[in-house]
Amino acid sequence: MLVKERRAPTAKRAAALADPEASRPLALFTESLVALLSSPGVHKAYMDLIALMGQTFPLAAPALYLSVTGVEARVYSVLDLDEGGEHDAHRVLGPDGFSYIRVVVGGHPPIPYHRLDLPLVNTTQATATLSINHGMHEGIFREWVKILAPAVAKLIDNEQLKALVFRDGLTGALNYRAFEEMLGQEWERASRYKTAFSLMMIDLDHFKGINDRFGHQIGDMVLRTVAQRLEKCVRKSDRVFRYGGEEFAVLMPHTDIAHAEPLAQRIRQTMAAMRIMPGLRLTVSLGLSQYRDGLQASDLVKYADMGLYKAKAGGRNRVEIVKDGQ
Ligand code: GH3
Ligand code: MG
Ligand code: MG
Repeated sequence: MLVKERRAPTAKRAAALADPEASRPLALFTESLVALLSSPGVHKAYMDLIALMGQTFPLAAPALYLSVTGVEARVYSVLDLDEGGEHDAHRVLGPDGFSYIRVVVGGHPPIPYHRLDLPLVNTTQATATLSINHGMHEGIFREWVKILAPAVAKLIDNEQLKALVFRDGLTGALNYRAFEEMLGQEWERASRYKTAFSLMMIDLDHFKGINDRFGHQIGDMVLRTVAQRLEKCVRKSDRVFRYGGEEFAVLMPHTDIAHAEPLAQRIRQTMAAMRIMPGLRLTVSLGLSQYRDGLQASDLVKYADMGLYKAKAGGRNRVEIVKDGQ
């Protein structure tokens, strides 16, 4: 009896391996796992996964929905945003914002209908859901997610760890380490593609006085409030950093100084108009610089800092631009 039971699945597996149709999923599963685990970054890993699924089973119209604490919600989908993609994303992720990465697999993008959601990861910290059209190779996809789940969980863990390393504990803003990393990346991009970007340094005026009058804890609360306000003032593509103590930086990709200055003025006005608590007013001084060919990333920091110094010397609650060290 025992022998029989052990023999049966072995024989079945041998038959499956001999039959190219039946062994196809196995090859697919392996290929997708390799793609997930060997990609240089998580972004590419998820893109490759959805591309593989979408190319092999176009009618299934696969989409991957990721919601991870501390990281922006993301969608990797073969669906066109305007042809059901956005609707399906909101259905799974809820009403909040997300970044949408359309994975192009050739041909007209498939249309979503009767979606089936297959959970890959579901913890208090993260959810990853694969969504497909109902009845389209459903069995294969069900097996597939079982095999992929541990690899996706691992990618999410790594990403969360990285998000923690790049965040400031007090304000939740990106920290100095993130600043260095992202400034370097932006500089590389701008120098390769000859595009513009701008850098803003923001320092709270007379912040020591706020600590002295209201106490350090209120001072901390002010820093958190300023960080939140900054995030609201800037565009989605801009990045806000806590550069140090009571100093923040904003990196503005694809933005020249003519567009950065109105944003800086708006930030200055917003801070000056803020009523944090009775009797507690705040102003900020801002320095601006813009990338141009031949400037190093460190020059940009130096120039924005010089602008900040000028704004302080000029009476605070001001914006100053520094071009070419002047
Ligand atoms: P200025 O207008 O010239 O910038 O004056 P300031 O008082 O803002 O500048 P100064 O450099 O003299 O003081 C900065 C203060 O910021 C001193 C420091 O205690 C405070 N600070 C730095 N980091 C923190 C923090 O994390 N929490 C709190 N509450 N205060 C901080
Ligand atoms: Mg200050
Ligand atoms: Mg300072």
